[in-house]
Amino acid sequence: MSSRAAPSDLLQIRFWGVRGSTCASGPQFVEFGGHTPCVEIRCGERLFIVDAGTGLSALGADLAASAPREIDILFSHLHLDHVGGLPFFKPALLGQDRVIRTYCGNLEGESAMASLERLFAPPLFPVRLGQLPARFEHQGFKAGEPLIFDDGARVETCRLNHPGGSTGYRFHHRNRSVCYISDVEHSEPWPDPNLLAFIHDADLVIYDGMFCESEYTNCRGWGHSTWQKGVDLAQSAGVKALAIFHLYPGHDDAFLKIAEAQMQTAMPTAFVARERQLVTLEAGEEPAVVEPVLAKDFAT
Ligand SMILES: [Zn+2]
Ligand SMILES: [Zn+2]
Repeated sequence: MSSRAAPSDLLQIRFWGVRGSTCASGPQFVEFGGHTPCVEIRCGERLFIVDAGTGLSALGADLAASAPREIDILFSHLHLDHVGGLPFFKPALLGQDRVIRTYCGNLEGESAMASLERLFAPPLFPVRLGQLPARFEHQGFKAGEPLIFDDGARVETCRLNHPGGSTGYRFHHRNRSVCYISDVEHSEPWPDPNLLAFIHDADLVIYDGMFCESEYTNCRGWGHSTWQKGVDLAQSAGVKALAIFHLYPGHDDAFLKIAEAQMQTAMPTAFVARERQLVTLEAGEEPAVVEPVLAKDFAT
């Protein structure tokens, strides 16, 4: 358990779930982890949560009582692997003074409310979100519009190529920026000029590298990309570091370590995201500090 409010000049990213589609479990998945997408982004002390996959329950347990009274969860989209952790998010159980706001950009301006109320209701699930102590507020927007929050925080968004659409995000803090680009399928020509402009010069891009090129011919049209296309995109855009994310549940630690070594021959600052891994971006010109996760971190 820890309270990790970042010093005000840091932009910090912690991965709480890095698997795509469904969870992975077993001794061959310990290094990279098994939870579905959830990323904690701290702009100074300001918390954003991107996606509410099963990793959200672990983030909630870690935040515990130190969770802010008002929490913003930004959805890439609402596929099951991105919402499944929502009813198990501990801050939603802490009291009626808590507010959890969701933001959804791929439904033509509609919020996530109707979809989530359908999902988290009997007979699919025994408890409705509205029965949890925290108050949920759901906001819709159109991907491409900036999100501007009451405290003045601003997050840029863009529409991604995925069945039903998906939203990419760009967070700024001091002179640093991180982009979350998942779920996305690369398109012809590649790199896509809009995406290139959106992520230009970012310090870190988190990218859907679910497959490798040799697998992609069998997965075309599924809405996901490859780590090779991620490296192409990042290098063309002048991105400093690349985190491959939304990992295929059938790729075990041994497979991913080989893939990581291959991508690092092309881009030394590329890596495969690991559950609970922390990336710190300090204001200034220093490269990102990427802390590897330690096996003992999984004890909690
Ligand atoms: Zn997904
Ligand atoms: Zn999806």
